[in-house]
Amino acid sequence: MLNDTAGPGSAKEAFVAKRIVIIGGGAAGIGAAGAARGTDRDAEIVVYTEYEDAAYSPCGIPYVHGGEIPDFERLFLGTKQQYADQGIDIRYQTAVQTIDAHGRNVRVGHGPPVPYDALVVTTGWEYGKPDVPGNDLAGIYYMKNIREAMQWHEVLEGVRSAVVLEAGPLGMEMVTALCHRGIQTHLVDPGPWALAMATDPDIVAPVQESWQEMGAQLHFNTKLEAILGDDAGRVRGVATSGGDVACDLVVVCTHKEPRTELGAAAGLAVGTAGGFIVDETMATSVPGVWAAGDCAEIPHGVSNVPIQGLSGSHAYAQGKVAGVNAAGGQRAYQPVYVPWAMVAGKWMIGGVSFSETLATALGIPFVTGQAQGISRARYFPDLKPVKVKLLAEPGTLRLIGAQMVGGEGIKERADFLAMAVRTGITLRDLATMENVYSPPIGALNEPIALAAQDALARLEG
Ligand SMILES: Cc1cc2nc3c(=O)[nH]c(=O)nc-3n(C[C@H](O)[C@H](O)[C@H](O)COP(=O)(O)OP(=O)(O)OC[C@H]3O[C@@H](n4cnc5c(N)ncnc54)[C@H](O)[C@@H]3O)c2cc1C
Repeated sequence: MLNDTAGPGSAKEAFVAKRIVIIGGGAAGIGAAGAARGTDRDAEIVVYTEYEDAAYSPCGIPYVHGGEIPDFERLFLGTKQQYADQGIDIRYQTAVQTIDAHGRNVRVGHGPPVPYDALVVTTGWEYGKPDVPGNDLAGIYYMKNIREAMQWHEVLEGVRSAVVLEAGPLGMEMVTALCHRGIQTHLVDPGPWALAMATDPDIVAPVQESWQEMGAQLHFNTKLEAILGDDAGRVRGVATSGGDVACDLVVVCTHKEPRTELGAAAGLAVGTAGGFIVDETMATSVPGVWAAGDCAEIPHGVSNVPIQGLSGSHAYAQGKVAGVNAAGGQRAYQPVYVPWAMVAGKWMIGGVSFSETLATALGIPFVTGQAQGISRARYFPDLKPVKVKLLAEPGTLRLIGAQMVGGEGIKERADFLAMAVRTGITLRDLATMENVYSPPIGALNEPIALAAQDALARLEG
């Protein structure tokens, strides 16, 4: 930006760097900061975050708790100095209180307004707080901030039994982690099975059986009614529609709620999914303001319905798009097809877009096929089963969803099938796909192709 205070035509026009303010230091905020720096090396980039740290991976926290990752230190992706060296000015433990979109400034604490040329809102999400008596007792863990996770890690040393509230992705990881630690673990979920919004019961059944083998007790179709405390105000159990469950700790893994209060108060439009409405450049309804990550909503590529509360990889990619555009570049974000995968119990589970349950609930017609294959050559040691279910649009046979459960190779298949949905690949394409056959990593028959062949065989009677 040119500062014209020296007067029009002045030979001494001073160059003033564009100031990009980013609210939030999570995946989206850090993605935005790095991309803005890559686009405009002169821009002044200021990131405000409530936390003591930025640029750590919360995704690793359940695995430190479960003992697979030995310490929290390795979850930090960069040092504070590295960001300072890149000219990214991160203001830690500093909450932005208001946005004045007309005046193009934000307010922080009692200081003067901080002007911006471009603003990126990445205020993220928080767990839905259980709306029951006892929700303020000591011993209720909201797993998010790494510093708090470090403290809870110490607490876990003395915990004998825990209740995990809800079997979303983070709850599923925590059930597995607590079982690994030898903690008597109860899962309480109002849904009929784990991750019911994304899975079918036949796909998630092996995971649930393995949790039970690991000692977990599963309470599905069960509503939380209260968190019970002792005389010292500490958790001693939960009351549910299925009876009381004793525990020392409650881990809240409820659905993610977008944090939109700050932006909404400044006039940013909020959509049907509860996140900020953005266009493909991640621009909000307010000029000069972009939004990214779990506070924004994005259209689903198949249904075109806006969805919100995606993953860290989505947040990071959206942040980069917002950062590039806020810095004056041009980049677009695509509708999403939502590949997902995780280790849960003794299995890997994953999918893309629609399950049978979700498609049915939404009234989306589909044809389906499924197959049980193997992950390696049948003679190779430690081969694992891989079950694949595919959903396709009747008539065109374009893929609209997939689910998988198996011992290995689930993430790679989810990524591939998301691209298949996005590019309009059909069951006929998949039934005749080429595949790698290499004894330690791939079987002669690819389970995806087998599932597509099964679907075609059903269609042909
Ligand atoms: C335990 C855990 C495990 C996860 N595992 C995975 C995984 O395996 N894979 C995956 O892809 N993703 C994972 N995620 C990522 C997660 O699901 C989200 O998608 C991701 O956190 C979204 O990033 P975000 O930057 O949009 O929001 P957030 O991470 O919520 O970051 C928003 C930031 O903004 C700050 N903020 C909010 N309001 C203000 C304000 N007014 N002023 C200043 N700062 C503010 C918040 O303090 C926060 O630091 C995991 C997250 C957690 C917590």
